[in-house]
Amino acid sequence: MNMNIPFTNSYGALPARFFTRQTAVPVRAPRLIRFNEDLAADLGIPHTDEATLAQVFAGNAVPEGADPLAQVYAGHQFGGFSPQLGDGRALLLGEVVDRTGTRRDLQLKGSGPTPYSRMGDGRAWLGPVLREYVVSEAMHALSIPTTRALAAVATGEPVYREAGGMPGAVLTRVASSHIRVGTFQYFAARRDLEGLRALYDYTVARHDPQAESPADLLDTVIRRQARLVAQWLSVGFIHGVMNTDNTAISGETIDYGPCAFMDTYHPQTVYSSIDAHGRYGYDNQARVIVWNMAQFATTLVPLMPDQDAAVEDFTAKVHAMPDLIETERQRLFGRKIGIAEPTADDAALVDDLLNLMAEARADFTNTFRGLIDGSARKAFADPDAFDVWADEWRARLKLEDDPEAVMRAANPAVIPRNHRIEQMIEAAVAGDYAPFERLIEILSQPFADNPEASDLKRPPQPAEVVQATFCGT
Ligand code: AMP
Ligand code: MG
Repeated sequence: MNMNIPFTNSYGALPARFFTRQTAVPVRAPRLIRFNEDLAADLGIPHTDEATLAQVFAGNAVPEGADPLAQVYAGHQFGGFSPQLGDGRALLLGEVVDRTGTRRDLQLKGSGPTPYSRMGDGRAWLGPVLREYVVSEAMHALSIPTTRALAAVATGEPVYREAGGMPGAVLTRVASSHIRVGTFQYFAARRDLEGLRALYDYTVARHDPQAESPADLLDTVIRRQARLVAQWLSVGFIHGVMNTDNTAISGETIDYGPCAFMDTYHPQTVYSSIDAHGRYGYDNQARVIVWNMAQFATTLVPLMPDQDAAVEDFTAKVHAMPDLIETERQRLFGRKIGIAEPTADDAALVDDLLNLMAEARADFTNTFRGLIDGSARKAFADPDAFDVWADEWRARLKLEDDPEAVMRAANPAVIPRNHRIEQMIEAAVAGDYAPFERLIEILSQPFADNPEASDLKRPPQPAEVVQATFCGT
């Protein structure tokens, strides 16, 4: 029983202290929940039978050419530094080069304990696995950089969480790498200059071969992260755990935990049950990512020949980041109201609408999408203020060629709403995977006007509102 995955691994050639080699702990009765055929084709992974897929993506069978290992990293969690974290419930299976020539990691998540598990059991339960599957694939369909989901397998074993025994599962995710800000922090905190240099060289070769110095790498990563967070804001996405170990150098969204898409708009929205102070709330994301990039910059200083000059230069780069984010945010939100090439002069129009929406507790997704057909007005109990805004808006749109096309491409009709995710998980726990399959299917075309998706477009009824989301670790 085996699979022909065209592995071509590179991380395992780094110094031994970068990881611990080990295999997954086999599970009792693996059963395939879903295999992402389209993604597999992109990765050059040939089709095979379900039983083999279940064995391989549960970790029971090690495919030829795999080099399973747990990566070590560190990270600031809610602002406090942990000098050693690492893959506590994940294993890098290996790497493949995809159709476009990009190297991608295949990683099992929920595959059993590793030396980095600390108090954890190394496992995942079905809920977070399906949630990450659906949300990461939805993000991809929204054209937002993200890790992808290749496979979900039920283990046939229970996992014990606060709520008791839950069905266990393993997710296989695909990332353009799993190098995190926290990976750099691990070596920097130990003053392991050789390790830091090796990581820097590896990162540049893999992600940014044009970078000529750590300063160039910092610029590029700051640009990618600025763009990413602006994209999150533009669809109402709240990551929920923007710790530095969950911030990828690649600029992909990574580590979906208590993440959420906002229903009603309010800038201080927080869903995560572990985020008591709203550190990672909706609009704080733009500030926290700057803080995370400051931590990244700090790790790069020891690599510079003149460290005093580097501190000055890197500080300036980090200080310039809020403007980068704001410019990108204005561009994306300008497009949401139909302006193809928004300028700074258009920012007030966007912010006025957002203020009205916050006051009215308007549904974020449906209000923007409703600008296309005029239904947005319904979101405002007192429509007078909205009408005043809309007059000004329509006057501005007279200067545009095809504002409707711009809005259609910028405002999804359907997003993975929290209550639908929870209902999907509940059904799956009871053995019904139809809602899971349907969410994936409909969310793969988020910008389409799909009459069959009307129930998924509806905001939650009061009794359906999800108050808090959980890590599920
Ligand atoms: P996260 O909040 O998911 O980014 O995880 C933070 C750290 O905790 C990472 O090092 C994870 O590998 C580890 N971790 C989370 N859940 C578990 C678990 N169930 N068993 C072992 N380690 C875990
Ligand atoms: Mg993490």
